[in-house]
Amino acid sequence: MDIHEYQAKEILANFGVHSPPGALAYSPEQAAYRARELGGDRWVVKAQVHAGGRGKAGGVKVCDSDAEIQSTCESLFGRKLVTHQTGPEGKGIYRVYVEAAVPIEREIYLGFVLDRTSQRVMIVASAEGGMEIEEISANRPDSIVRATVEPAVGLQDFQCRQIAFKLGMDPALTAPMVRTLQGCYRAFREHDATMVEINPLVVTGDNRILALDAKMTFDDNALFRHPQISELRDKSQEDPRESRAADRGLSYVGLEGNIGCIVNGAGLAMATMDTIKLAGGEPANFLDIGGGATPERVAKAFRLVMSDDNVQAVLVNIFAGINRCDWVAEGVVQALKEVQVDVPVVVRLAGTNVEEGQKILAKSGLPIIRATTLIEAAQRAVGAWQNDLSQGSNMRAVQ
Ligand code: GDP
Ligand code: MN
Repeated sequence: MDIHEYQAKEILANFGVHSPPGALAYSPEQAAYRARELGGDRWVVKAQVHAGGRGKAGGVKVCDSDAEIQSTCESLFGRKLVTHQTGPEGKGIYRVYVEAAVPIEREIYLGFVLDRTSQRVMIVASAEGGMEIEEISANRPDSIVRATVEPAVGLQDFQCRQIAFKLGMDPALTAPMVRTLQGCYRAFREHDATMVEINPLVVTGDNRILALDAKMTFDDNALFRHPQISELRDKSQEDPRESRAADRGLSYVGLEGNIGCIVNGAGLAMATMDTIKLAGGEPANFLDIGGGATPERVAKAFRLVMSDDNVQAVLVNIFAGINRCDWVAEGVVQALKEVQVDVPVVVRLAGTNVEEGQKILAKSGLPIIRATTLIEAAQRAVGAWQNDLSQGSNMRAVQ
C-alpha cells in the first residue's frame, strides 16, 4: 500500500527526519489560508498523488503570493495528473500540500528498499538527487552508494557515516545525516515498509538536512498489525477494480486486454496469462482466487471480472490439489446462475475429482466451453472472443 507524501513526512518526523514546515489543503482557498498560517514569502504547492515525477508533470509549483497559490491550486484540483509513473489515465488531485520553500544547496537521492536477492533492507543513495533513481542508474551508476543492513544487529552508525562520507558531505553534517538514516531505517522497520524514498534529501543554504519529498510503501500482508497505517489508505488513488478486489480478499491486478482470468494460485495465474498471449490474446487481469476456491469465492471472482467492461471472454483455470474439481465446478455453475455473465466462458479443470467436475459442468446445461489442457483452454478463449468480434455480436454492446 502506498501513502501520500505529506503522510510519509509526518511518519518520518516522528523518527527525527525533518522536513520544511507544511500543511495540507482540500481547496484553493484553504491552500492560500494555509500559506498565510505558515508565514514566509515563498511556498511550494505540491499535488498529493500516489506517484513520482510530479515536478516534471506540473504537479509541483513554487509560488510567491496567496494569489499565485490560489490560481495554481485552481488548475490542480480535480485534474488528473499524468506522470511517467501513473500510466496514461493519470491520478486525481484532491489534496495539495503547501510547504515553506527552502533554499537548496545540494540534492541527494536516498532510498531504503527490501532487496529480495540479499533478503535484507538495502540503502541506496546518490549525490545526484532530484533525478529519478532509474535515470541515475542509467546515466550515473558510479554515483550510487549501497549498504545492506544485517537484521540481527540493525543499521550501524558506522555504515551511516560511511554513506555520508561517500556522498561527499560536509563533516559537520555527518551527525545529522546519521540521525536521518537511522530515523528512516526505524520508520521502515517498525511499520513493515517495503520502501522509503526521499528524493530529494537536501542540504539547505544554512546547512540543515531536510526531506523535501518522501514516499513510503507498506507490505499489504502486514497491514493487519498497523491499523494506524491502514487508515491512511486513499482509494481515490487506486485502480477501482483493484480496490474492489482487495476489499474482498482477492489478489487482482487489472490489465489492458479482454480475456478475464479466474485462476487459483499466483504461479498458475502467471502461466495462464502467458498462455493467453501465446494463443494470440491479451489478458484483462491477473486474478488469484487462492487455495480454497469455495463457490462463494468463485462467484465473487466472476462478479469482479465482469465488472471490467473490457472483458469479452472469461477463462477459468483451476488446478485442484487440496481443492476438489467437483466443488469448484459447483461454484462455477452457481456463479453463472447468480452473476450476469454475457460473454463466452471457458473452463479448464485439472486434478482431484476432475471427472466429477466435468460431469457437473456438462449436466448444468450452461453454455460452458470445456477444455482439458491449458493451451487448449487459452486457444478456445481467444477463439471464442475473436469469433464474437468477427460476428460483430459483441454481446455487451448489443445489450
Ligand atoms: P516528484 O517530482 O514527484 O518527485 O516531486 P518532488 O517533491 O521531488 O518535487 C520535485 C522538485 O521540486 C524537487 O526535486 C525540487 O527540486 C523541487 N522542490 C520541491 N520542494 C522545493 C522547495 O522547497 N524549494 C525549492 N527551491 N525547490 C523545491
Ligand atoms: Mn521527488
